[in-house]
Amino acid sequence: MINGLIDKLKTNRDLSDDELREIIDSGDYDGELRAAADEVRRAHYGDKVFLRGLIEFTNYCKNNCYYCGIRAGNPTAERYRLTKEQIMECCEEGYALGYRTFVLQGGEDPYFTDDILCDIVAAIRKKYPDCAITLSIGEKPRESYQRYFDAGANRFLLRHETANPAHYAKLHPDNMSSENRKRCLRDLKEIGYQVGSGFMVGSPYQTTDDLIADLRFLQELQPDMIGIGPYITHAATPFRDMPSGSAELTLRMLSILRLMFPYALLPATTALGTITADGREQGLKAGGNVVMPNLSPVSVRKKYDLYENKICTGEESAQCRGCLERRVKSAGYRVVTDRGDVRRP
Ligand code: SAH
Repeated sequence: MINGLIDKLKTNRDLSDDELREIIDSGDYDGELRAAADEVRRAHYGDKVFLRGLIEFTNYCKNNCYYCGIRAGNPTAERYRLTKEQIMECCEEGYALGYRTFVLQGGEDPYFTDDILCDIVAAIRKKYPDCAITLSIGEKPRESYQRYFDAGANRFLLRHETANPAHYAKLHPDNMSSENRKRCLRDLKEIGYQVGSGFMVGSPYQTTDDLIADLRFLQELQPDMIGIGPYITHAATPFRDMPSGSAELTLRMLSILRLMFPYALLPATTALGTITADGREQGLKAGGNVVMPNLSPVSVRKKYDLYENKICTGEESAQCRGCLERRVKSAGYRVVTDRGDVRRP
């Protein structure tokens, strides 16, 4: 123990900004931090790791986020969208592999109108009444979120990306705003969705104060899931010359999140597994309790190219499932196949 800061964070689930800055900026606490995070995750979730089957159903996007490989302004992106039938096949395969949560993620693709989306959600809901349906399709008007919810969706993932509006403006064009993103998150909560938010670690121009602002925003939002991963450079974006974020800082933030939000679902993300070979295993040991294996058809996986060298793009879904199960085991945890609803205190 260096000076009791980690104990204090564990007990109070909070620290002052200055104390958080001390931990975030120093590597000295990492060992103690990870041990405390693992202790808290085991107290709340035992050795369970929940699975979320990820279906990347379109890479068309009308937005132009400066960091993202599927931004509208990337002419080299090979665009695809899955049909309803293909999406249903992904669910079928996932269900057989034991997944009880389907995450439909995509760019903001105007082809998928509310009518089309509701039709797909309703079909999944009808066929899999025991499964959670998660949407991750970006910013929409409140009425649209309500319609998807009424059609049977019950969870929504929308990372706030960065809570500081000035930093947000450096990552996104003028027609996007931190305010609208936060409005979306509040609407989603009020409608009754289980909500996931989160941020990239090491995104261009990010400061320690920005990370602290992210933690403060999350304390206010109290999301069910918090997804974080390192920013990873993509050559066909305006940020092509910006360095990627580090695994080290991502793991540190993951452990801080576990101590601040003991109940939360914290994925060990694909981006973390991309930046370093055993990133997801390390993510689990640092407090993570969710993995999100890819269920998309192999033919489109490389095209959902958010960042470079993304892992898990060559394997069949069943192989992904087996591979992740082995990785989870090797880290000292156990994959479970229930829906994995959040357990609030
Ligand atoms: N259109 C949806 C889904 C976005 S993709 C939405 O707006 O929510 C899911 C997440 O990938 C994003 O929220 C972002 O945090 C992350 N991401 C995008 N580009 C990335 C990059 N270059 N490196 C790391 N993560 C990235």
